[in-house]
Amino acid sequence: LCVNDDLFEGAVVALAPEQAHYVANVIRLAVGADLLLFNGRDGEWRARRVAAGKRDVKLEVGAQIRAQPAPLAVEYAFAPLKHARLDYMVQKAVEMGAGILSPVVTRYTQVSRINLERMTANAVEAAEQCGILTLPRINAPRPLADWVADLPAGRVLAFCDEAAAASDPITALRQAPAGPVSVLVGPEGGFAPEERTMLLPRAVILSLGPRILRADTAAVAALALVEAARAA
Ligand code: SAM
Repeated sequence: LCVNDDLFEGAVVALAPEQAHYVANVIRLAVGADLLLFNGRDGEWRARRVAAGKRDVKLEVGAQIRAQPAPLAVEYAFAPLKHARLDYMVQKAVEMGAGILSPVVTRYTQVSRINLERMTANAVEAAEQCGILTLPRINAPRPLADWVADLPAGRVLAFCDEAAAASDPITALRQAPAGPVSVLVGPEGGFAPEERTMLLPRAVILSLGPRILRADTAAVAALALVEAARAA
């Protein structure tokens, strides 16, 4: 469970109402039973439910189970989708190992307002699901051209391009210079010709096969390929 409190042995964490409901009524954690807590800063800790008022849930922190790992280096940059599909895409990107989420506004992006709070909630839920202790960094939305211009020199830009000839993406990623990877996936309508022209010279082209995938499916496929290709 992800909480905001500092975690150390002996700390007592009073859960917010929604989490208290989850612990008391959904997973029905008994007083005296344990669960694992993290906060994105202090690693993972065992915590025991202690007696409290009827609606309150308090947990006393015990031993540390895992130290805080280094932040995950893979960036997932994407044109935001609408509502449920964006929720899904954020959850899946975090499950697939993205440590930085960067919404980029492209010519055919159809979403004008991006709810960063909702994105954060989805990212936290996915981290909880997977036991990922480093919460992803979520960047404010930026125009695609600005995001590309400011990419650090050492980053590999893996551009998911459905218009590219199908080629072996694992080889493409392995032949790229060493360094952290930024995966870029476009909106429902794909990238505009001038955007492709801007991206091609800077990028490693990633084909995800001969079918045009939904953007949220492309997220999962591309991040799985990056993990497979960059594994030692
Ligand atoms: N209309 C569908 C939708 O609503 O999601 C398909 C959108 S597809 C054009 C969105 C993005 O997914 C593309 O811009 C590209 O980044 C990625 N993509 C989809 N299929 C791909 C493929 N076969 N190879 C590489 N990238 C792909």
